[in-house]
Amino acid sequence: MRLSELNTGDVCVVAKILGHGAFRKRVIEMGFVKGRPVRVLQHAPLRDPIKYAIMNYEVSLRAAEANMIEVVKVDDPAQIASLESAGTVEVHDVAESIVRDRHRIVNVALIGNPNCGKTSLYNELSGASEHVGNYSGVTVDAKLRVFHHKGYTFRIVDLPGTYSLTTYSPEELYVRRYLHDNTPDVIVNVVDSTNLERNLYLTTELIDMDRRMVVALNMFDELRRSGARFDYEMLGGMVGVPMVPIVARTGEGVEKLLDTVLEVYNDVQPNVRHIHVNLGADTEAALRRLVDALKGVPGIQRRFSPRYVAIKLLEGDREAENELAGCEGADGIIALRDELRAELSQLHGEDISAQVAGAKYGFIAGALAETMTAPPVDTREVTRRVDNVVTNKILGFPIFFAIMFFIFWATFVLGQYPMDWIESGVDGLSELLNRMMPDGVLKDLIADGIIGGVGGVIVFLPNILILYFCISFMEDSGYMARAAFIMDKVMHRVGLHGKSFIPLVMGFGCNVPAIMATRAIESHSSRLITILINPFMSCSARVPLYVLLVGTFFSAHAALVFSGLYVAGILVAVMTARLLRKLLFRKEETPFVMELPPYRIPTLRSSLLHTWAKGVEYLKKMGGIILVASIVVWALNYFPLSSHDNPAQDSYLESIGKTVQPVMEPIGFSWRGSVAALAGVPAKEIVVSTLGVLYTDDEAVAPAKLGERLRSVNPHTGRPDFSGAEALSFMVFILLYCPCLATVMAIARETGSWRWAAFSIVYNTLLAWLVAFATYRVALLCW
Ligand code: GDP
Ligand code: MG
Repeated sequence: MRLSELNTGDVCVVAKILGHGAFRKRVIEMGFVKGRPVRVLQHAPLRDPIKYAIMNYEVSLRAAEANMIEVVKVDDPAQIASLESAGTVEVHDVAESIVRDRHRIVNVALIGNPNCGKTSLYNELSGASEHVGNYSGVTVDAKLRVFHHKGYTFRIVDLPGTYSLTTYSPEELYVRRYLHDNTPDVIVNVVDSTNLERNLYLTTELIDMDRRMVVALNMFDELRRSGARFDYEMLGGMVGVPMVPIVARTGEGVEKLLDTVLEVYNDVQPNVRHIHVNLGADTEAALRRLVDALKGVPGIQRRFSPRYVAIKLLEGDREAENELAGCEGADGIIALRDELRAELSQLHGEDISAQVAGAKYGFIAGALAETMTAPPVDTREVTRRVDNVVTNKILGFPIFFAIMFFIFWATFVLGQYPMDWIESGVDGLSELLNRMMPDGVLKDLIADGIIGGVGGVIVFLPNILILYFCISFMEDSGYMARAAFIMDKVMHRVGLHGKSFIPLVMGFGCNVPAIMATRAIESHSSRLITILINPFMSCSARVPLYVLLVGTFFSAHAALVFSGLYVAGILVAVMTARLLRKLLFRKEETPFVMELPPYRIPTLRSSLLHTWAKGVEYLKKMGGIILVASIVVWALNYFPLSSHDNPAQDSYLESIGKTVQPVMEPIGFSWRGSVAALAGVPAKEIVVSTLGVLYTDDEAVAPAKLGERLRSVNPHTGRPDFSGAEALSFMVFILLYCPCLATVMAIARETGSWRWAAFSIVYNTLLAWLVAFATYRVALLCW
């Protein structure tokens, strides 16, 4: 509970003081020390300020200040008496026991550049298995976990990666607001030791913020391997922030890190000290004037370090201005700021934020020059050599396409073996059932509805696991970032950035996280376009259908047709992107830097973990929405019972299928195909499970495999429902039409409007029909 919440006469013990360093220091100097008893003497008429008694003297605080002090209320009169009668020394023991529990919760926030290993550390600390990836934008939300260490409860939060605390991207804004609103007790600034110059930039900003923090020098294994020598203790002393080398991937140093966090938390770490990163004489002079002015604005001073706000204001930061806007005297400060900005940029002839950044990089370079001896060999030698080939103008593309082709080949050809095993397992099960169970509705339900539907989809688990394994390997190794790099030019032709490329490739796995990953894209319009074209990236839910139809009708050219479908999706995406750019967002985009993180060989464990997590999700989908859909489809097909004896009467499903049939006829769909497409709207796997249910009861002598059943002659039309042309048209339609429910929801959420979700449904479905029509007609001509 907060001190401000107490009433007149209440007694409490101080547990924790929140906020930035200067504020904490001032309140501590006033006597609000951890473990001290405090009595509320009296509220002013408007409860502000409030008068308190600490020990034997009185102090008054504003309610907002009291709100930054966490306390434990003491109700027991005996305890109160012993607190208030004891001398300074004994009081500590009594109070200590009262605040212990409260005080033993440590809120820690992990902050660092993208890709520096925050999530790895988070997983290592808390035993979670969040996905780690070797490019920016994997973590887009805060994740919280609780664990224990040395009798303390740690509440640890993994925040999105950010290069700075400016507000250019949603991540930066998110992290900044998080720090403002949640005031974590200790910040763990995770730093990539192999890339100190850039990573320490954020550190300098956190130093400006004046919060308690520890720097975790991650990837120290790589630094060591490079042969560089680094006196991190000296650096920590210089900047006033303790530094602990760690290897998040193996857990090395993590124990020490936690101990250091505790020392900082308990204010016993000898290295902790607040320093000012020197920004040069002129800027510093301007800052002093602004800081003085800000000191007259209690609303700001309480929550932020005035120097930090002053720097941000000078940089022209919008968020800082907004924070200030509500406070008294804001206009005067903004006016002063404008005046100082004009003066400074005249003086230096360059933008203030560039001056500030330059000064900070100078600070970092200086600090490193003193503490680090460069490695004898360039650490990035290997990376550079590989990059020369992989991102080569001529070789880059063939290599990329070869890798993609290999992935599809592996998904299809290697996946065939385990798929056959599962398939024979499913067959065995239904045979067993046939023998064991008496005829009737229940048997039909289980055999045709459940095993036919769910069994039809579950056999594709290996294919999907292989696909996921490959994608996660590309992400973790750093190749994905290269792929984005070589695609940058191409993406620009489409009106997008290389940065859009990663979410698009992720879409091959699942469109939902891919759409979330677009948050890393700074430009609003690029982000929107990337979201809208993402459903054309053929996700893994569509793989079962491809495997089924390609295996049945195009087994001789499997990988080719398979890749062809993906390429078709990509072409449609490209076309759509160009269209949207032309029609809706004609504005030019600002350029930005693309990074090339060093290559890392992903641990087998992390790749397998990630793959397995996806597998579990897939199985859950099986047991949930796909199971339900299979049963519903089966029931609609089974009832009314009279349809069994009377061939003239249609089942419910047949009626539905025949109603939409006229629309689907031109693209070569049978009524069963139409029903399957309709049923696939909640989740695209349901297309296959529906086919499984619909094509099961055709013949008395049911051929074993679903593919065979699709091929067999339909007694009503005298020819098979599916041949090559129909199969192709069907796959194209399923590839492009209305995104699945989860994706539609993701689009609505990420664009912040249902309009784009609705657009996606209508546009994609119309387009799917047109492309399927063209495909079907051309295919018919060819056969
Ligand atoms: P985040 O996005 O900043 O949270 O970073 P991740 O935790 O996703 O990690 C990025 C990459 O760095 C992954 O490929 C990790 O396997 C790798 N990584 C993380 N910690 C270490 C480490 O201590 N040493 C090495 N060599 N690699 C690491
Ligand atoms: Mg992460």
